Amino acid sequence: MSDLDILKNCKRLAILGGTFDPIHYGHLVTAETVLKELDLEKVLLIPSGRPPHKQNVNISDNEHRYLMTVIAAEDNPDFIVSRMEIDRPGMTYTVDTLKTLRRICPKRCEIYFITGADAALQISTWRTPGEIVKMCKLVIVTRPGYDKNGIEAELEKAGIGLDRVVFMDVPALDISSTDIRNRVSIGRSIRYLLPPNVEKYILKHGLYVYMPDKKTAKKAEMIIKKLQKALSQRRFIHTRGVAEESVRLARVHGADEKKAYIAGLLHDCAKDIPNKEKTELCKKYGVEIDKVLAEQPDLLHQFLGAELAKNLYGIADKEILDAIRYHTTGRPDMGVLEKIVYLADFFEPSRRFYEGRDEIKALAYKDLDKAVAFSLKHTIDYNENKKRLIHPLGKSAFEFYKKYL
Ligand code: ATP
Ligand code: MG
Repeated sequence: MSDLDILKNCKRLAILGGTFDPIHYGHLVTAETVLKELDLEKVLLIPSGRPPHKQNVNISDNEHRYLMTVIAAEDNPDFIVSRMEIDRPGMTYTVDTLKTLRRICPKRCEIYFITGADAALQISTWRTPGEIVKMCKLVIVTRPGYDKNGIEAELEKAGIGLDRVVFMDVPALDISSTDIRNRVSIGRSIRYLLPPNVEKYILKHGLYVYMPDKKTAKKAEMIIKKLQKALSQRRFIHTRGVAEESVRLARVHGADEKKAYIAGLLHDCAKDIPNKEKTELCKKYGVEIDKVLAEQPDLLHQFLGAELAKNLYGIADKEILDAIRYHTTGRPDMGVLEKIVYLADFFEPSRRFYEGRDEIKALAYKDLDKAVAFSLKHTIDYNENKKRLIHPLGKSAFEFYKKYL
């Protein structure tokens, strides 16, 4: 069955096309408003394939955009998501989509094509607008930041009569996919801008994350595939958070962003291995197990992680390996990458809130040494409270860094 068989008996329908990279509440409130105001049966959400006006923009993989749209629409039986544009080879033109729909829908079906004020202001650049409005009526909706004034002139330029257009006010949500992508790339919150499940999807798949370059992205992809098998979902999300936070810190402090990304990704690669197996692997790779480690085998994951990074993930770079090796205890006089991963682990966005987290984060973007000093103190106090042994590396690290407090 095609995803559009449901339209065979549909008499009133609207289409909302978009890049949906990602879909957000601005799109959904628009679809819902048009559905109700025009008393329609369905709104068809169509993620575009390759839109001619976004050729120079780096858009996410079709399947990601499609799945996010499906997730966003799943609790509304009147919204249907179609693959037709992403599955159609070549450039995506609205006129082709309408021709297909005209073939599927009953002859008398009324079709409305929804467009925001921003897109409406460019209608004369669309392919054959005259032909489009023979097959559907346009619904032009308001959008914060875009002036309705120029629209009539634009319609005239495109040869579209006002009888083929419905103007509609929709609740003003000043949300755009561009802003959401930018927020993600700099670690700002996107909560309440889009459905929570779409937000989760973005985090899980690491969409919109700043990627240093193609070569690193390729290497990261290989690492991520393996990590997805080695880590729980929660740990995996944390891992990505550390990788991204490390890149941001590296950028601010002039460190190597590519190394920061890889080190962040791998920092916990040994963490979910059961403790018994950790101990065996440590023997295999020659990691010495001292008294504290024997009592707290969980701490082994930093040393073992560095060995696995070297032996299973093919990392030879000493700075990356050291950033993994000391990311939990720290050590005296750490290198810049070590400090970055150590700190990113402390306050990446998915980390639960704890007293002092935001202060340490703010400090980390200004002064790495000072932030390390506060984090070490925080960790030592916390572990002493829990009556846990403090590893000698952590103690000597604090001795070294306490001068920055
Ligand atoms: P980008 O920033 O990547 O261009 P966008 O937020 O503009 O993304 P699109 O996928 O380009 O989203 O938009 C699809 C359609 O939805 C367009 O017709 C656009 O005008 C409309 N639209 C998008 N956001 C809103 C909004 N907040 N209010 C009203 N209409 C909107
Ligand atoms: Mg847009």
